[in-house]
Amino acid sequence: MTTLFEKIIAREIPADIVYEDDQVIAFNDIEPQAPVHVLVVPKKPIATLNDLTDEDAALLGRLPITAAQIAKQLGIAEEGYRVLMNCGDNAGQTVYHIHMHLLGGRPLLLPLA
Ligand code: 5GP
Repeated sequence: MTTLFEKIIAREIPADIVYEDDQVIAFNDIEPQAPVHVLVVPKKPIATLNDLTDEDAALLGRLPITAAQIAKQLGIAEEGYRVLMNCGDNAGQTVYHIHMHLLGGRPLLLPLA
């Protein structure tokens, strides 16, 4: 089944894209939980972290590297930010196409709700 993020990658659904290359796309979350809330998404449709294989290692590594680049571009790198990935229902994963959340622009306290 085609995921929402595949439709964004294919430009079938609009998104506020902040970064794109041949392997990764990043766009603003539609329901931001912080002043900066960007989703960094591999173009390869991998459903969850449980579905990763060794051959995805380099691709997965692109996610925090891209998130850090975006954080710098948005001016939040020095003050700090959080990256996180949800896996499965208990973590609240709603889109089954792996993605990294980049959150920042305000203090991010733990624990999470
Ligand atoms: P998850 O809960 O799976 O870790 O994260 C999915 C994220 O996708 C959520 O933060 C949600 O707000 C975001 N999202 C859901 N639908 C859309 C959409 O149509 N466009 C954008 N830009 N983000 C979306």
